[in-house]
Amino acid sequence: MSGAQGSDLNRNPPHPGRLDHAEGASIPLHSRVREAQPRGAVINGDQPIDQAGAAERFIAAPEHERMHDARLWDLRQKRDRQMHGIAEWEDLRRLASEIKEHALTHLDHYLEQFETNARANGIHVHWAQDADEHNAIILSLLRDHGVKRLIKSKSMLTEECGFRDFMAESGVEVVETDLGERIQQLDDEAPSHVVVPAVHKLRSDVAEVFARTLGTDPDDDDVHYLTEQQREKTRPLILDAQAGLTGANFVVAETGTFVVCTNEGNADLSANTPPLQIASIGIEKVIPRLEDLPVFVRLLSRSALGSPITQYTSHFRGPRRGGELHVVLVDNGRSERLGMEQFWTSLKCIRCGACMNTCPVFRRSGGLSYGATYAGPIGLIIDPTFNRHRYSSLPFSSTLNGSCTNVCPVRINIHEQIAGWRRVLAETHELPLMKKVIMREAGHLLSHPALYRTAIATADSALKHLPRFMVYNRLNTWGHGREVPAPPRETFHQWYAANRATKKGKPA
Ligand code: SF4
Repeated sequence: MSGAQGSDLNRNPPHPGRLDHAEGASIPLHSRVREAQPRGAVINGDQPIDQAGAAERFIAAPEHERMHDARLWDLRQKRDRQMHGIAEWEDLRRLASEIKEHALTHLDHYLEQFETNARANGIHVHWAQDADEHNAIILSLLRDHGVKRLIKSKSMLTEECGFRDFMAESGVEVVETDLGERIQQLDDEAPSHVVVPAVHKLRSDVAEVFARTLGTDPDDDDVHYLTEQQREKTRPLILDAQAGLTGANFVVAETGTFVVCTNEGNADLSANTPPLQIASIGIEKVIPRLEDLPVFVRLLSRSALGSPITQYTSHFRGPRRGGELHVVLVDNGRSERLGMEQFWTSLKCIRCGACMNTCPVFRRSGGLSYGATYAGPIGLIIDPTFNRHRYSSLPFSSTLNGSCTNVCPVRINIHEQIAGWRRVLAETHELPLMKKVIMREAGHLLSHPALYRTAIATADSALKHLPRFMVYNRLNTWGHGREVPAPPRETFHQWYAANRATKKGKPA
């Protein structure tokens, strides 16, 4: 699913009488000041991502942080209103979860069924084991057809595969058709959110990007002006492209078809304008039957944007007359994830982004601070499956409050899996040295009650007297941006001994 909601292009106050999604209408948001856009995490080879450092830079741009938080919380509230409007919401979630779990535990069967039916429909089916194979298959298709320009609708899988960079190196021009994604492409940035790729940008940021890349007026950030200019500049490129690429939200084994949901109709542009259509699809997207589809369609947009349905839910069954349709089914680590007992159910994800919209860490740090294709709560589970060392810090970027689990439309136990990754990373020695030392000492302390009580009492009285620089320094990352609570006058055990215990130490 995709949309232009990434920028605040569509955040103008609704006109009276305009047809909105009823309660789904967005609150108007306007930035108060011009402020430079904070950039995301710095990628340093395979070094662990410094998400906290990137988050600190994001927070240091208060207008960006305020707008980002407000936009995503708005989406979360709209999602809640939609959920309350459907009495059978929890039944739908349960059903969606069961369908996905059934499909994932019979994945080979349903993929083969899809392949047979898709071929019968006239679709060419390819299999790619990893990102390199995916890119190579598509490049060879493009070369066979003499393609110089490809138009593409938003697809997180192609982000996973580094597709745009690969194509640029191979001499094929790629033009994004989703507005938010196009903004990100022009700014040479990855999407910061799976549904709203430029949600971290202010209108002034978009004006700056367009002025730099499309030659628009840098001082004009009027939404109509910006969208019109982008449309005028990009339409000719779209109409002239020789191939189009989409992702897929769902793949129906029974019919050999696939479904793409967008709000801008841009997947239909990508699919129908040029003669060659290609779809990059993760193997976990398969569902057994057409009658399973409405369960997900009812959940997807409501969970993502708080709107009852996406504007375009397009079914692709075969090539258009005189054209060709190719589907590339991509594994890229999914089979391996399927074999991970604690984490396999993360494959149920339908990429609605609800867990990101509700996550306090994501809302205040921006998606690019995670330095990975998938940000937010679901990213903390998926990313370490791609590279355990590089993404070893990410599962700690969570409060484990469980809100992500509560909103997930396919009932993934997200916060439990994040906690699971912390355990795995500790067991496989992927913790930073300081965390490792602290955890070891904490473990020792917690397993010796007498020592623990003495240490707590000593720490409490020391905190009252230590000079500030000894408490707030580089070693106390917890104290960055917040105060350590004032130590209590007495510990719980001291209070309990004085007020509740008998002389023998038993409760009174
Ligand atoms: S984990 Fe759940 S809430 Fe998060 S994006 Fe996936 S389906 Fe949506």
